[in-house]
Amino acid sequence: MEVRNCKLCGRMFNYLGGPSICPICKESAEKKFNQVKEYIRENPRASISQISEENEVSIQQLQQWVREERLEFSKDSPVALTCEKCGESIRTGRFCEKCKNNMASEISSAFKKPEAAVETPKKALHDSDKMRFKR
Ligand SMILES: [Zn+2]
Ligand SMILES: [Zn+2]
Repeated sequence: MEVRNCKLCGRMFNYLGGPSICPICKESAEKKFNQVKEYIRENPRASISQISEENEVSIQQLQQWVREERLEFSKDSPVALTCEKCGESIRTGRFCEKCKNNMASEISSAFKKPEAAVETPKKALHDSDKMRFKR
């Protein structure tokens, strides 16, 4: 068992993978997240700095949640997110749907190449279905 110090509060805890954050801080971050999510739902026009101030959450933390696609902004929101690839405006995450699809098909075509779609058409079909389902 690996023991680490929490990078937020310094408490020792049993490390189970992921960021070095203890269960207590993780739980309070989770509460914050729900609070922010609720806030955005009730205040769809709030800006990032407003959300940060009113919920006492750092802008970095908000941006991290957005990158993880846990927070989504409404169409009315002044929060401007852009796709990191093509600059298209998006509501959450790092890339627009189009770029995500392109990346997914690049990955799956690179993955499928050696087998040349002769032996296992069923499996290939299954994989692309799974990917479509995921987003
Ligand atoms: Zn902690
Ligand atoms: Zn894009």
